[in-house]
Amino acid sequence: MFFEVVKEDARTKARLGRIYTAHGIVETPVFMDVGTLGTVKALEPRDLSELGAQVVLGNTYHLMLRPGAEVIAAAGGLHRFMGWNGPILTDSGGFQVFSLARMRRITEDGCLFNSHIDGHEFFLGPKESMAMQRVIGSDIAMVFDECLPYPCGRERAEKSVDQTIRWAQVSRDQPHADGQRVFGIVQGGVYDDLRRRCAEELAGMGFDGYAVGGVSVGEPEERMYQAVDASVPYLPTDRPRYVMGLGVMRQMAECVARGVDMFDCVIPTRIARHGTAITRRGNVAVKAARWAFDQGPVEEGCECYCCRNFTRSYVRHLFACGEILGLRLLTIHNVWALNRFMKEMRAAIGGGTFSEWKEQTRKETEENE
Ligand SMILES: [Zn+2]
Repeated sequence: MFFEVVKEDARTKARLGRIYTAHGIVETPVFMDVGTLGTVKALEPRDLSELGAQVVLGNTYHLMLRPGAEVIAAAGGLHRFMGWNGPILTDSGGFQVFSLARMRRITEDGCLFNSHIDGHEFFLGPKESMAMQRVIGSDIAMVFDECLPYPCGRERAEKSVDQTIRWAQVSRDQPHADGQRVFGIVQGGVYDDLRRRCAEELAGMGFDGYAVGGVSVGEPEERMYQAVDASVPYLPTDRPRYVMGLGVMRQMAECVARGVDMFDCVIPTRIARHGTAITRRGNVAVKAARWAFDQGPVEEGCECYCCRNFTRSYVRHLFACGEILGLRLLTIHNVWALNRFMKEMRAAIGGGTFSEWKEQTRKETEENE
């Protein structure tokens, strides 16, 4: 068995589940921590375990450029290379190739592009992406797709969805690492019928799980929920569903109510390095001068290592001086905060109080926005 629904919420589509991977069990709904280059920036794998992190994300595009397939293969895969023995999910590189790289040419087989690092020419398509993910040895590999920008015209979106569906088939048919599961990605921009068609065609191919891609790319929040609603109902109920690139607490709760099980986002660790803490009452710029004398923790009531041991005054001081410990402490807090949020959410679903919990969370955030 790969995925098990343990409990379904009576009033929403929220569900409590378990994903069984070769590197451990993942309790869902889950927020996955992003370790683009084989490291969740500023954290050690032992920190991740202590912070309740369940899955680390790696990125095919970035790892293909640096250190490259040969180096990871020599280590016997990414788990051993980075010293993380828990589950790893790899993004296919589709998103990065279309957003970061200088594109040379798109063909039926993939994309010819120049590396964003040194301009070196690379080719990445479904075959290359799956081959790289096989070397990485991720527990969950994603198909190679095209992530549409927002806004995007109807004609462009239609062509892109057709391409994404063809690439999904090629991705699925490639050889995979032992025990590696493969997820399809629903695209279609803001067009409900395209999303539905994409979801149905992917479901017909029989993937191990399904992602909703191309959301949280700058569209209004309502558009995002609309894209989820246009995709999720057409996906099999006995497979995990994953909204890519989303990590805002309130939005994750809304998506879980719509039947989503998995999320990832680079923002929590990125804003930590810029001095911003994620709290249940909104984001707090800890490096602001007004905290210079504040003897309270970064977040009142938080039980993370940072909040148990240090004051806002101290963390602010570290940022003001460019001390590396500041980045580390706030990263610890943010990763803990999101994992704790998901843990509470799972407890609420398990206890049959998800709707009340979600409403309470929404009010808390709104009061402070
Ligand atoms: Zn904390």
